[in-house]
Amino acid sequence: MKDFNHIESVYWVFTQLCNDKCDHCYNLSGPQGSRISEEDCLNIIENLPDSVERLILSGGEPLAERKKLYLILDKLKEKYQGKTQIMLQTNGDLLTDEILDTLIEKGVTRFDIASIDRYHKAAGGRLMQLAELFESRGVNGDDKDPLVRKENYLHNYSLSWGYWGANEDMWLGGNWARGRAMQKNIWKKDPDHNFCAILSGAVGFLNGGDNIPQEISIQLWKINPCCPGTKEALGDARKEKVADVLLRLSGNPVFEMLDKGDPYKMGESVGISESHARKRCGELKNVCLWCDEFFEKHYDMSKLEKKAAEVPKV
Ligand code: SF4
Ligand code: SF4
Repeated sequence: MKDFNHIESVYWVFTQLCNDKCDHCYNLSGPQGSRISEEDCLNIIENLPDSVERLILSGGEPLAERKKLYLILDKLKEKYQGKTQIMLQTNGDLLTDEILDTLIEKGVTRFDIASIDRYHKAAGGRLMQLAELFESRGVNGDDKDPLVRKENYLHNYSLSWGYWGANEDMWLGGNWARGRAMQKNIWKKDPDHNFCAILSGAVGFLNGGDNIPQEISIQLWKINPCCPGTKEALGDARKEKVADVLLRLSGNPVFEMLDKGDPYKMGESVGISESHARKRCGELKNVCLWCDEFFEKHYDMSKLEKKAAEVPKV
């Protein structure tokens, strides 16, 4: 049986507070973004697997909640004793030399400036300044994609930084049908684009893959198989061990299909055919919206069983 007490990668959005308010933001981060308490954060760390190869802290803007971030870093150091690579994803707007020194001292080894695109206020305007700042602290800027290539993050703990942003070709492959991208109507409408089968999708969340890490995301406290997030969370990281949640889903045909990055076939075991899924994707124009419908209408996430068919009202 697979041991979920060891996991390759956890992506944790511990705050949705942000100094920016980008149109494409999938989790509605901004100056009024949702937050969780310090106590919740400590409980979540308690419930993380005993062994995590890398942990990406993200937001919102992690540096907008510095006190909480420092507390989290201290607790992670205590739990993992430097055996987990700690990565920080930030828009870079609030980074100063003092803050960088503190982050390094508290165990962050990788910095990703995720704001070099047209949606962000600064849109890369600080890039040269940040490059100088990193260079002054010996943080290597050559390696651009440890988030993607396993050999670059597993067992590689040297200080490094990189930058990227959201664009059509890279990373997001178009904006997710979530949050502000939905409100602003800039989500990607293409039923054949399978967000689930690329990094940040659900692919590999249970079993990993050759080129894709076994990664889950935690949105504040919601355990998700992917960054866009399923309609309801897989579990509550404040109250449940992440390993127990994954063990519960392992072997379940719906979630094993998501693990293969195939939401078109996820309903087959409960009588929802691939052709129906493809038809609904076509109508909804996005595979994650089909996934929402599946969990809303056809499959009960808490009971892990098919929902009873609705009796039409007369
Ligand atoms: S995309 Fe990033 S920088 Fe922009 S509002 Fe969302 S969390 Fe903040
Ligand atoms: S289809 Fe569902 S599981 Fe897959 S990425 Fe979209 S929301 Fe996540």
